[in-house]
Amino acid sequence: MKTKNLLNIEQKTGQHWVGNGFPVTTIFSYDDLGKELSPFLLLDYAGPMAFEPSNIPRGVEQHPHRGFETVTIVYQGELEHRDNAGNAGKIGPGDVQWMTAARGILHEEMHERDFTQKGGTLEMIQLWVNLPAKDKMGTPRYQEILNNEIPVVTLAENGGKVRVIAGDYQGTRGAAKTFTPINVWDIHLNQGQKIELSLPKGFTTALLGMKGTVVMNSTNTLNRKELARFERDGDRLALEATSDATVLVLNGEPINEPIVGQGPFVMNTQEEILQAMTDYRAGRF
Ligand code: MN
Repeated sequence: MKTKNLLNIEQKTGQHWVGNGFPVTTIFSYDDLGKELSPFLLLDYAGPMAFEPSNIPRGVEQHPHRGFETVTIVYQGELEHRDNAGNAGKIGPGDVQWMTAARGILHEEMHERDFTQKGGTLEMIQLWVNLPAKDKMGTPRYQEILNNEIPVVTLAENGGKVRVIAGDYQGTRGAAKTFTPINVWDIHLNQGQKIELSLPKGFTTALLGMKGTVVMNSTNTLNRKELARFERDGDRLALEATSDATVLVLNGEPINEPIVGQGPFVMNTQEEILQAMTDYRAGRF
């Protein structure tokens, strides 16, 4: 086993609104670190923010995507989704929506109606996962993965738990179907507890702090809303929680293909981006 070395810790502070429902900090996108974090293209962290009760719908109106997957993980609050492939669903704390846009989808992402009317705190992330070129124009797919469908590995001695959203954690298979090898683990560590992660060599690895603080490899501290990036070399990562902590592990085999992104489209060439715009305008999504 060889320890994975830390490359750096990203600290993003800016916040912008996506629609009228999502106060988002873009932790990385395909224009910057997304190129190095393949297959992960973008990560938006929304909230936590307390919303007052309202009768006015909140969210993002219908918009397109092509060429990748959007993965929404809810930590607090309730969301409602609807797309033009006929998929609709509601997701709340612990639930995940793994949507494959592939050749094209139109969807709306809203706060759930009752949640809007009652008010409450919203905290969620949206992760964009790239598709290999051969799957970018494939059939759209929708996976609604509820909290109770996500395998949980309980850590010894009240250490906490690992929710296996995708991939494999020590033999426990994750809930999501993916196109390329990806591990997405939602790790909850109790204060003072440790975990040692074994990760495939050569994969991209990043940790997002969601709650509390953890010390990585006995050296560097990861705080909430920070992203730690690691070298692809090595296969071992040790975490110790200095307070009750939640960390999202993003680990995946890099897709070594060109990335050209514009707005909600991520393809391999500029020509394909122009084609996406043409197809969208022509109502071919
Ligand atoms: Mn969207």
